[in-house]
Amino acid sequence: MDLREVGYDDRDWINLAQDRDRWRAYADASDNAGEMNPGSSTESYPAFPRVGLRENHGKNLNQVTCPDRDSNPGHLVSQPDALTVTPQLDFRNEVLRIKYFKPSLFKAQWEAYLQHLNICNTLLRTSNPLVVSTRNIAAEKKVCSRKLKIPPEDLDISNINVHKLRQNLRKQEYDKWCALPHKGKGVILFQEYTPGNKWIFSKEGLSSSEWRDAIKMNANVAPVRSLHGRSLDGFRCRYCNEIETLAHVLGSCQHGELLRNSRHHNIRKLIAQALRNKSFEVHEEVHCVASEGGGIRRADIVALDKTNSKGFILDPTVRFEMSQTQPSEVNKEKQQIYEPTIPYFREKYQMEGTWEVHGLMIGARGTIPRSTVNTIKTFGIHDIIPKIITSTIKGSVAILKNHLYGIS
Ligand SMILES: [Zn+2]
Repeated sequence: MDLREVGYDDRDWINLAQDRDRWRAYADASDNAGEMNPGSSTESYPAFPRVGLRENHGKNLNQVTCPDRDSNPGHLVSQPDALTVTPQLDFRNEVLRIKYFKPSLFKAQWEAYLQHLNICNTLLRTSNPLVVSTRNIAAEKKVCSRKLKIPPEDLDISNINVHKLRQNLRKQEYDKWCALPHKGKGVILFQEYTPGNKWIFSKEGLSSSEWRDAIKMNANVAPVRSLHGRSLDGFRCRYCNEIETLAHVLGSCQHGELLRNSRHHNIRKLIAQALRNKSFEVHEEVHCVASEGGGIRRADIVALDKTNSKGFILDPTVRFEMSQTQPSEVNKEKQQIYEPTIPYFREKYQMEGTWEVHGLMIGARGTIPRSTVNTIKTFGIHDIIPKIITSTIKGSVAILKNHLYGIS
């Protein structure tokens, strides 16, 4: 899972802001320590770091305030409390690694204490006698681990790897999210192909309102009637008598049928065009007859590799994410439907070679299962995966908006 933590509410940022005072106190302490013994500080405390966390109102960091800019080419922050580092510091790169220059989303409730653990590690590495005589770093580490709710038996205070700790916390949080009976439904599929989650940070072709609605859908908090506290008119669908869940709105309500078809057709066209670009002979929406009186069916995409005498029947299907076994179930379902049509296609296209049927499940909220990715990769068209994701999210948002605000 490549989802980085997003603060659940404003309190995270308040906590971060409060923690800023703590940072400032450490920085001031280190500055003052150098001044305690004027004139001889370099002899008495040769390795004591001089780090200043100073107010830098309205200024961007530049070559003067951050002389090591060339090795840190990330985005410069223009925040009132930007971190400034004096140029002669030996360990400034250590400090710069805190990533203040690459702003990204994180869970500040953890990050304040994780960064404090990092500070403790860094101070201990300096092997400065003043540090160990004036601070109880082990106790500070214990406080941080308590705040992070890490059981003492799981933590070796003398050897804390903050990077791993953060990863474990993320994993725990993700597992908790997946276990939620309503809001965690289908979230497990986000870990199947993590590059597909990039849109959460980059927005990838989505408008601001589409992105906002997509986030709501992923957390399953879109304002459908089954969402607790959202409706005074009961939880039944406003257009039919089913329970109005997000899965019903995106997957089965009659009211969104045309938009649902349009979402599917857009994905089908994307895949078909990509296959044509790879020199496959491609037919879309092909009517076919199943053997042994199985009736008439319609295959979404029939791709022919005439050089190697191979035929493929592909059926992209958008489904609301429910479980990790869903992609293989969809594949099996599609194979049962289309394998009986293979004799018909052999005759129709005069190709006796091997034929394969693939049901490609695509999550209605923009997840792409690993099995779908693997199949797409075998055709060498994986470049279209981000486009499929964007197209699916746009389609689902349109269905949701039409359901919530459209005309009945
Ligand atoms: Zn309905």
